[in-house]
Amino acid sequence: MVVILNKNPDPKRVADLTAWLESLHLEIHPTVGKMQTILGLVGDTSKVDIELIRALDIVQDVKRISQPYKEANRAFHPDNTVIKVGDATFGDGSCPLIAGPCSVESREQLLEVAQRVKAAGATLLRGGAFKPRSSPYSFQGLHADGIKLLLEAKKETGLPIVTELMDLSQLDLFADVDVIQIGARNMQNFELLRQVGHVDKPVLLKRGLANTLQELLMSAEYILAGGNHRVILCERGIRTFETATRNTLDLSAIPMLQEMTHLPVIVDPSHASGIARLVKPMAMAAAACGADGLMIEVHNDPAHAKCDGPQSLTPDAFDDVAAAVRQIHPLAYRA
Ligand code: PEP
Ligand code: MN
Repeated sequence: MVVILNKNPDPKRVADLTAWLESLHLEIHPTVGKMQTILGLVGDTSKVDIELIRALDIVQDVKRISQPYKEANRAFHPDNTVIKVGDATFGDGSCPLIAGPCSVESREQLLEVAQRVKAAGATLLRGGAFKPRSSPYSFQGLHADGIKLLLEAKKETGLPIVTELMDLSQLDLFADVDVIQIGARNMQNFELLRQVGHVDKPVLLKRGLANTLQELLMSAEYILAGGNHRVILCERGIRTFETATRNTLDLSAIPMLQEMTHLPVIVDPSHASGIARLVKPMAMAAAACGADGLMIEVHNDPAHAKCDGPQSLTPDAFDDVAAAVRQIHPLAYRA
């Protein structure tokens, strides 16, 4: 980190600033020029509050030259993190498919969808038991009963399950869940992130509706810093000025994140577009960009789904998407 001081700063103030930065276990290397004085900060600057320094009246500007995320940073961990869940491997260059309904609604619904997506090649089953809904009057999920049904489907099909944890009070119910999903709306629920950092299960962390890639990595950092190294990142579309689609799929996030971090990056084309017929082209595009996996919503009766029907594929449509992804994936871009 470099701190650029204003012209002719008061030497006493510079000494105070230097002493304070040294107290943060940083080495300070001043460069005094005719026009400007610059302080070079060497050491772990990840805990330094850049805005606090910038606000000082002797400071003109502060620039980070290293990233504030250490554990997630590709620079310090050049090899991909590879996460195995059942028959799926994330981060080894393959593109496993996670599929299932937005929310668990009934035994019949879940078992039918689970069997069909398994037959189409999905290696993980998704389904929400706790649903983050914009309206408190919308279906909120089956809660504990939903988890029970997911475990039944897991037993029946052998597919590991992914489901969303919305609150710490629900964690006890997740003992047999294979992957904990942290949804877009909770990407910056730091206490929740901190706690799943102590859980011995992979975490699927979705990008927030309006969060930068650096913010996504800082959220991953909470989990990694707690000792849980199995974090899968998920691009699920972001809010833009466009209203024709539910969100805007940020495809550039895939290669960009893969440069910034060693963690696997998967894509959810269902929430990204919000429109079932756009799921196939977006899934193909994500596979072509080198996604480390896809998460797709599938419902046996989308027209009557209790949540996200318009973006849900029928099992037949999922067969078609899975086949298209398998064709595209060998040609995928690799950095
Ligand atoms: C989901 O996967 O069902 C979900 C609610 O996704 P997101 O958090 O990305 O909106
Ligand atoms: Mn959904």
